[in-house]
Amino acid sequence: MATVKPKAPPEKGSSRKDAPRERVFQGQAVGPGIAIGTARVHDSTAVSVPEYRIPVSAVARERARFADATADASDQVARLQLKAKGMGGAAGEDLSYLLEAYQQMLRGSRLIRGVERRIIEDRINAEAAVHKEIARMIDAFSSMDDAYLASRIDDIRDVGGRLLRSLTKTPYRPFAMLPRNAIIITEELTPADTAVLDPRIVAGFVTMLGGVQSHTAIMARSLGFPAVMGVAGLVREVQSGAPMIVDGLSGKVIVDPLPETVDDYRRQRARFHRERRALTRLKTLPAITRNGVHIELNANIELPGESEVVLQSGAEGIGLLRSEFMFMNRDDLPGEDEQFELLRTLVESMEGRVVTIRTLDCGGDKVGVPLGICAGPNPALGLRAIRLGLNQPSLLEDQLSAILRAGVFGPVRILLPMVATVDELMAVREILGRVVRRLTRRRVALPDPLPPLGVMIEIPGAALSADALAAHCDFFSIGTNDLTQYTLAIDRTDEAVAHLYDSLHPAVLRLIQFATEAATRARIPVSVCGEMAGSPRYTALLLGLGIRELSMSSSNIPPVKRRIRSLHLPEAIQHARVVMDQSAPGVIARLVDEFNSAE
Ligand code: PEP
Ligand code: MG
Repeated sequence: MATVKPKAPPEKGSSRKDAPRERVFQGQAVGPGIAIGTARVHDSTAVSVPEYRIPVSAVARERARFADATADASDQVARLQLKAKGMGGAAGEDLSYLLEAYQQMLRGSRLIRGVERRIIEDRINAEAAVHKEIARMIDAFSSMDDAYLASRIDDIRDVGGRLLRSLTKTPYRPFAMLPRNAIIITEELTPADTAVLDPRIVAGFVTMLGGVQSHTAIMARSLGFPAVMGVAGLVREVQSGAPMIVDGLSGKVIVDPLPETVDDYRRQRARFHRERRALTRLKTLPAITRNGVHIELNANIELPGESEVVLQSGAEGIGLLRSEFMFMNRDDLPGEDEQFELLRTLVESMEGRVVTIRTLDCGGDKVGVPLGICAGPNPALGLRAIRLGLNQPSLLEDQLSAILRAGVFGPVRILLPMVATVDELMAVREILGRVVRRLTRRRVALPDPLPPLGVMIEIPGAALSADALAAHCDFFSIGTNDLTQYTLAIDRTDEAVAHLYDSLHPAVLRLIQFATEAATRARIPVSVCGEMAGSPRYTALLLGLGIRELSMSSSNIPPVKRRIRSLHLPEAIQHARVVMDQSAPGVIARLVDEFNSAE
């Protein structure tokens, strides 16, 4: 829930008197660190609008597109209204008032009627009709000497911008022409947007929407951007150019900070970096428990550029390569050769360490594949990940073929996302066999032996079928992010339910335990690659449940390694036994924290 706490500058001292008041907003801490910089508020109207005439026969289709865009914009505003309600106070009330005005504008207002008329009478496309109608209204309102109407111009722009973005399928692009140390303030940031943020320029970001388990948040952690998500109303509270601080550790966002606040945060930031540097000294030390058990620590990567950081982190290999990066920020699909080249470079850069490549996991909050093939009424439950690959085998064949070819340049493993049934796994094996035969016929070099084929355990049904899946695959990787989402029916991207997202819920823990034991019985490797793996808070519990391999963002390897080196495995196993006897998530959380602080 967001709160606004203005802190008055001291009364005395003339230089401070007219200074803007320091304001503190609270959102959800995404990590990893503190940014001190300058606000850059995203301009939601920066959309390029195509204009063309349409035949009479296309009028109905164009009106339907416009109706869809209106519904889309209204959904977005409804989400913001929910957030505003949660904010409370005068700021929340003001924001609710304003958003209700937006909703009214989207329900048959002058703007909507004007656009409709332009589509029907001028026979132009919907986005051009919106663009022209907004321009006309802004013109008319600005020429009237009426303060109220003048104040509505920004609202018309905002609503018009939403309609245009929806019609032109333009994502937010808050990062063009940014000054150094920019802190991006935006309603929403997609993983594809995050992937192209330049860490030399962007100091951090704050969003109004989005949860800390979302893929955008994972990317922020992985790429090292201090970030806070779910801060309602911020876009309207801050002007571009305002000095500000993003505390990704506590979730605080401070606008127009007082000089003493800046000094304090400079010290905190220096301390954070000192601690990180101290941890990197662990790089060359082995990840072994106090009683000498080795735990394999691998890295998750989102972008190929991260491989250098992976090598510096002391990771043994890549436990999860999210291959979505190859499909981001483009309008077409990458071909087999293009994928092969990207993968080969990455595999070579890992100098003989194993690279676990996950096939495309589009849909949900992840990349929407070009051509819109991941769309659907409920993308989190729709035709996504391996289901899409099986539905469009040429997409999967290209990926498998590229991975096999890259496997000649270093050891790789193939990982399948969102497998729910043994049949899916067997269908992939069949396609893989076909791809191998085709490459052999063409005399293309293949790795020998062929790469292991593993499945993500991230759907509760898969965890409960773990014995059957283990009999037909070569390794498991437990995706606790989605496993938690689907077990508890909590959308990991929705900040409104983020407080209910709990990987320590006994149902989630039982599924992790069940899958781990099934893998151990079948003698196949099992690792955890969700965000749980990267937090030292869960290390003892996961090891106690039988996990001996963890994969995480490389920046988390040192703190997790330090935790492993402090643990005595028999004690962790006993601790896990006690935890697994509990049924209340609150009691489990307390036991976990007590065990961690007792060490
Ligand atoms: C997971 O679901 O835990 C996982 C590792 O995959 P992703 O976060 O990419 O969905
Ligand atoms: Mg997942």
